[in-house]
Amino acid sequence: GVLLLDALRPWVEQDPGGVALRFEEMTLTWEQLSDRVLRNADAQRALGLRPGDRVAFVDKNHAACLETTLACSAAGTVNAVVNFRLAPAELVHVIKDSTARVLFVGHEFRETVDELLPELPDVERVVTVGGAHDEYEPLLAAAAAVDPAHSASVDDCFLQLYTSGTTGHPKGAMLTHRSLVAHGRAAARGFGFERDSVNMVAMPLFHVGGTSWALAGMMRGCTTIVVREVVPDRVLAQLAEDSVTHAFFVPAVFGFFLQTPGVADYDYSSLRCLGYGGSPMPTALLRSALDVFPVDFYQVYGMTEASGVFCILGPEEHRDDAHPERLVSAGRPVDGVELRVVDPVTGMEVPDGHVGEFHVRGEQVMAGYWRLPDATGSTIVDGWLRTGDAGRRDEDGYVYVEDRVKDMIITGGENVYPAEVERVLSEYPDVGEVAVIGVPDDTWGESVKAVVAPGQGAELDTEKLLAFAAGNLAGYKRPRSVDVVEALPRNATGKILKRSLREPYWKGRE
Ligand code: AMP
Repeated sequence: GVLLLDALRPWVEQDPGGVALRFEEMTLTWEQLSDRVLRNADAQRALGLRPGDRVAFVDKNHAACLETTLACSAAGTVNAVVNFRLAPAELVHVIKDSTARVLFVGHEFRETVDELLPELPDVERVVTVGGAHDEYEPLLAAAAAVDPAHSASVDDCFLQLYTSGTTGHPKGAMLTHRSLVAHGRAAARGFGFERDSVNMVAMPLFHVGGTSWALAGMMRGCTTIVVREVVPDRVLAQLAEDSVTHAFFVPAVFGFFLQTPGVADYDYSSLRCLGYGGSPMPTALLRSALDVFPVDFYQVYGMTEASGVFCILGPEEHRDDAHPERLVSAGRPVDGVELRVVDPVTGMEVPDGHVGEFHVRGEQVMAGYWRLPDATGSTIVDGWLRTGDAGRRDEDGYVYVEDRVKDMIITGGENVYPAEVERVLSEYPDVGEVAVIGVPDDTWGESVKAVVAPGQGAELDTEKLLAFAAGNLAGYKRPRSVDVVEALPRNATGKILKRSLREPYWKGRE
């Protein structure tokens, strides 16, 4: 294992005048970045922070957030980067949970945070970042660029990111020197980061797609371009302005790009690698993106608890006519990551081609969830991280993410993955959209139910639909019942709310 700053030191020593980072009007050489990181660490010490203490950062993307993360890695402290989009009550929960004593707050968020301070007794100091009343630059100016002389261990956490938490409260995933350096090296190899690469960081720094992606490029000596927030036409123009070679975006952002007028006419000549992922990419969207951007595409399958990416689908597979099915695969594990597919009920590995839960193991797995030993113990077992994702692996090692384990239905001892049944039912002509859930069944424990919204103007004959299912699905996978509804309930990002579909059936039983 190597400490993060050791991984950056070669560039500071060999190329002190080379550009390390750009953010808005600011350009920092490696020497300047190193100086600011040491000052940040010294300022933390002056504020009374000691190894193991936490700070929290609440802002849209800002270079100061990366500097703080690097400073924490040197000082033995921890940067808990908070999602600035959270509602006030959620902000209170996460900041409280982090036990941060110092908050770095973007000027746009200062007022909101000040109103929450009465509910945050641990917080001793708030530092405004940016704007007319910036307190961050004066803090650095007053500090000394001295080595904090902290002897870190590779298993120390210095970055805490909160998982999106589709169930329950967000949990703080503790990422360490070991996990982030292992991730950075695997990612650099996987995406072909080179010394002269220019890496755009457009995804939020409170997510691994932001901070871990940035650290991976930095470790390889790339220039990092920090984008405050994604404004599609601005980002597309900036690719050429900053000679960007590598960038990562989530599928939703690719959707915005493709709707941007003149998207095909921007200058993409510097660009070599586009990463996408973080959630499933619709195939139609991917095909359009492949047409528009004349560069290498990489699919990223990753999660916070694995410090970022752990499977990559490379450019060859995106243009491989012999294996068109691989376009919907999430690729193969990166260097240093082992992946197995396990039956969630028996705990046994399933054969290739069968669906189970993905477990991954390797140095890039997090140390655990902050102050949640039980959740940590049930998520990491014998070093294997349970991803909660269900899918299969083919005989060539490609993995296909299909479902969430918690949506799995167990009927008469057989595991049924809703995605498979939904795929079949959605082929029936009168079906507009469909969700498959498990409902209580006295004989089988659970039985399979389909909730269907008919297509526009269509009449749905449920008997015929069930007959269609019978012709295309094994007996235990067939829906026993069908509910016809006008539309399926969805959340703000368009995900079907299976929990609210299940609720009325399970009331008082679970
Ligand atoms: P997060 O920790 O917020 O990054 O969420 C991680 C989860 O996002 C994974 O466990 C998957 O369910 C999903 N995910 C990430 N990347 C992909 C991908 N390439 N394809 C499908 N699902 C993905």
